[in-house]
Amino acid sequence: MRLETLSVFPEVFEPYVSTSILGRAQDAGLFEFYAHDLRNWTHDRHRTVDDSPFGGGQGMLMKPEPVFEAVRDIAAQAQDRPHVVFFSPCGRRFDQRIAARLSKEPRILFVCGRYEGMDERVYELADEVLSLGDYVLTGGELAALCVMDAAVRLIPGALGDQMSAQDESFSDGLLEYAQYTRPASFEGRDVPEVLLSGNHAKIAQWRRLSAVERTARWRPDLLEGAGLTEDEWELARRAMADAGLGEVGDVE
Ligand code: SAH
Repeated sequence: MRLETLSVFPEVFEPYVSTSILGRAQDAGLFEFYAHDLRNWTHDRHRTVDDSPFGGGQGMLMKPEPVFEAVRDIAAQAQDRPHVVFFSPCGRRFDQRIAARLSKEPRILFVCGRYEGMDERVYELADEVLSLGDYVLTGGELAALCVMDAAVRLIPGALGDQMSAQDESFSDGLLEYAQYTRPASFEGRDVPEVLLSGNHAKIAQWRRLSAVERTARWRPDLLEGAGLTEDEWELARRAMADAGLGEVGDVE
C-alpha cells in the first residue's frame, strides 16, 4: 500500500508514521509513505498557497491552482491511480468500517487543509471527503494521521498477531470485552475467575458477554446493529438498567 499526504506542513507526519506499529509495518514493507509539500506546486516567489475569500470574511482560504496541479501531478507519479481523500468537517464521519475499506486500497492520497479551509472547487478532485467528528481542527494533518493509523493496523500482518485486529472494538459491531493483567488480585479487586481457568470455550463465552455488557453500558447506540441473540439482548437490557440508561427501546 502506498500512502501519501499533500499539505503545507509535510514535516509533521514522519515522527508518528515511523513509530511503533506503523514504523514496523513500514519496515516490513506493508506500506510506503510520502509526504508532499503543497508549496512545491506554487509558482510565485513567496510560494503562496492561500488567498482571501471572495465576499469578505475572516481568514484565508487555500487557493485552487496549487491543489489541482499537485493532485494531478502526484496521481501521475505511480501506476495505480490514488484514491483521493480530502478532509473537512463537512465530510462523512470516519469510522472503523471506512478504515477497513481504506486498508484494502493500493494507493491513497490524503489532502490536508489549513487556514479557514479550501476553495470549494477543489472538492471535485476528491473520491471522498472525511471528517473526524463534529469539531474543528487547525489542519487536516491530524485527521490524515488518524485515518492512516486506523487503516494500517488493519493490513494483514501489521499487528503481528492476526487475532488482535479481529477482537478489537467495532470489529463485530461491539466494543471490546474487559481485559485484565497481573496481579490477579489488586487491593481486594479480583480478576473474574473464569479468565484464570484455562478453559478456552468458557473464556470465549465470557468475553462475548462482557463485550455485550460493556457496549450496553458505554455505547448503547451500537447495540441495534450488532446482531445480538435474544439472551444477549436480555443481558444488554439488564446492563443498561444497572447503568441507569432506561429501556433499549429508547435507543432506537
Ligand atoms: N472553516 C472550516 C474549517 C477549516 S479548518 C469550517 O468551518 O468548516 C482547516 C482544515 O482542517 C480543514 O480544511 C480540514 O482539512 C481540517 N479539519 C478541520 N476540522 C476537521 C475535522 N473535523 N475532520 C477532518 N478534518 C478537519
